[in-house]
Amino acid sequence: MSACPIAPSRLPAILTACVFLLHVTFPAVSAAYVLNTVVADMRLPASLAGSTACPQTTRANLSIAGGIRRQWSTSLGANPVTVLTVDQTSSGRLNEIENTIVQAFGVWTGVAGSALVPSSLAPLARTSAQTSCAADGLNTICLNQSDPAFSTGVLAFTRVVTADALGEQAAPGMPPAAFLGQILDADILIRPSDGTINFATPAALAVHPAAYDLQSILTHEMGHMLGAGHSDVWRAMMFPFVPPAGTFLGSRPTLASPDAPLSEDDRAALRQLYPDPRDTVHQGSISGRVLPANPLALAGTGTTGVFAAHVVAMDAVTGMVIAASISGWSCSDPGPAIFDGTYRIAGLTTGITQAYQLYAEPLDGPVAPGDVFESTVLCRNTLTDPGWPAQFACNTPSPVTDFSTGFRFGP
Ligand SMILES: [Zn+2]
Repeated sequence: MSACPIAPSRLPAILTACVFLLHVTFPAVSAAYVLNTVVADMRLPASLAGSTACPQTTRANLSIAGGIRRQWSTSLGANPVTVLTVDQTSSGRLNEIENTIVQAFGVWTGVAGSALVPSSLAPLARTSAQTSCAADGLNTICLNQSDPAFSTGVLAFTRVVTADALGEQAAPGMPPAAFLGQILDADILIRPSDGTINFATPAALAVHPAAYDLQSILTHEMGHMLGAGHSDVWRAMMFPFVPPAGTFLGSRPTLASPDAPLSEDDRAALRQLYPDPRDTVHQGSISGRVLPANPLALAGTGTTGVFAAHVVAMDAVTGMVIAASISGWSCSDPGPAIFDGTYRIAGLTTGITQAYQLYAEPLDGPVAPGDVFESTVLCRNTLTDPGWPAQFACNTPSPVTDFSTGFRFGP
C-alpha cells in the first residue's frame, strides 16, 4: 500500500491531506467514517491561531460569496484515450464527461440533513490547461496531469490545502480563511494515460468492462474535497478501495434520489461536516470509550483507552450498518487531545422505535490505520513543528490492532 508522499508546504496554507484510491480485491466487512482534522498553529498569536490546540475538522466554507469555486480541465489523454465515452465527437465527449462530473457533485449536494446544497457550489467552469491542479484556491479536477503521487495502484487522489491559522489564503486574491480547518484548495487528480488504465463514463462502462467507473471514483474523491476521510464501512463511498473494473459502487444517482450511491455512513459524515440547522431527524449521537479488559495492557503507551478501534453502530432491527467512527481521543479547550479511547458517532436518526447495537473491532485489515489517519492531524509538538509551545504538545500514540472484542447487551 502506498504511503502518502510529502509535498512541499505552501505558505501560508499547509498541505494536510493526500489520499488514494487503490485497486485491490474486495475484502470482508468492517467499519468507520473519519473526518480529516488539523491542529491550529499555536506558535502564532491567538488572533490568528485561536485559543485551542484541539483538532479541528476540515471543511469548505459555505459562506463564500458565489459558492465553492470549481473547474475541470478539458485536457484529456489521447493515446490511449483515458476517459472512454459513448459520444466520440470532441464536443460530445466533453459534454459526456462533464455530465458525469456534475452528477458526482450532485450526489453530495443531495443529502437530506446537510447544509451542502446545489447552490453551495459555483457553476462548474472549464479550463484547457493541462496542469491546472495547483494550490490556487480553485477546486479543480484534472484528468491528464501527471504527479509523483501516482505510484503503482493509485488511480486517483485529492490534494487538500487547509488553513491552520485564520486569514490564510491558498493564493493571493483568494478568500482568507474565516475559521480554522477551512479547506482553501482541493484538487482531484485522476490517473493520466499510461497505456494500461482507462476510465469510462456511466454510459460507456457497459461496453468497456476493463475500464474503471469514472463516476464512482469522482464521487469518492469529492468526498475528500469536502473534508471526509476514508471509511472502513465496506459499502461506503469513502471506503479506500475502488470497485473492480467494469462495476460501479451502489446505485447510480437519479433526479429523485441524487445521493443514491452513498451509504448511511457517508451521509452521517456529511451531516457532521455541514449540518443543516433545520434538521430535526438526524440529531442522535452515541458516544463512549473503548477500554481494554485489563487496564494494565496500556501501561507505557501514553493512553488510557484503545486507540484506534472501529466502533460501528448497526440498526438493532435490521442489522444494517448505519455509521461508524474510530475511538481514541477526546479534547476540551484549550487542548491538546488526550488519548482516552473516546468515540462518538453522530448524525444518527432518532425515534421511539429506533435502536442501535454497537460493536468494536481492530483496524487489522483490509483497511489499515494508515488508510484512515493519513489526513488526520491530532497532535503537533516540537518534533513536528520546531518551537511548538509545550502546553499544547502531544504525541499521537500507535494504533492498537491486536485486540478482540466481545458483545455485551446494554440497558
Ligand atoms: Zn480516498
